[in-house]
Amino acid sequence: MEIIKLNNVNFFYNLNSFEIKGISFSCPEKILIGLAGPNGSGKSTLLKLIAGIEKPKNGAILIKEKNLKEYKAVERAKILRWIGQNEIGKISYKVIEYLYLGTFPLKGYFGRITKEDKERAEYLLDYFYLSKKKDWEVENLSGGERKLLQIAFSLISSPEIMLLDEPFAHLDPIHLKALFNLIKKEKEKGITFIISSHEYNILKTISDYLLLISDGEMVCFDKPSNIKLDLWEKTFKIPFVKKESQDQLFPDIFS
Ligand code: ADP
Ligand code: MG
Repeated sequence: MEIIKLNNVNFFYNLNSFEIKGISFSCPEKILIGLAGPNGSGKSTLLKLIAGIEKPKNGAILIKEKNLKEYKAVERAKILRWIGQNEIGKISYKVIEYLYLGTFPLKGYFGRITKEDKERAEYLLDYFYLSKKKDWEVENLSGGERKLLQIAFSLISSPEIMLLDEPFAHLDPIHLKALFNLIKKEKEKGITFIISSHEYNILKTISDYLLLISDGEMVCFDKPSNIKLDLWEKTFKIPFVKKESQDQLFPDIFS
């Protein structure tokens, strides 16, 4: 099944402003799509359109073969979670309490926390090295830890689609590695990811497909190994070179 399909999607914020122009692609489920493009190319806007936060001016977005605009908010929240670039706002919750809030799309605000919720919360906190901080106030976590907590918050309800906007910012190698490993596991369990980043080397390595965009237009949608240098250059408007060996240190974050 095509879990996400965009059909000639157009969008603008105001007349004469930035535009998303005629974006079409469709993706099978349980894959990771990397969304790459320079600053201001429309990555965040495109993710907001797919999340239903912004509405296309023309064209259609289909989620599980049904037009996104026909979904009720609750129904959509069960299938699809979006994590924007912004931090968790000022909230006075403990880490574990905040994480449990992530289960509410499935059960409603007065739903009970089940044994499965507790196990899943422990698993996610453990994965992100946050177990020892489960009783900390969220606002006392570091920026990177708060980002991981946001990701855990969205994953706890096991959605079918996760849209992550620049999740790698502020993460050091050990937390990046934890995030990649978790994404790999969750993808195998059935989640489809779209992850935006301008860290194209990371995206190139972890993605099944790459969607390159520049100035609101799609440059290509293809497997990373099929994308030649000229398309990277067209996307980022700067010459690219491929270096086989470099005298630089690279942490082994992908294993
Ligand atoms: P990216 O995530 O690739 O950096 P964005 O999607 O955030 O790009 O932004 C694309 C363009 O849309 C930018 O020129 C930005 O200034 C503009 N833009 C983003 N949000 C708004 C908004 N709410 N109103 C008007 N213009 C916006
Ligand atoms: Mg952005």
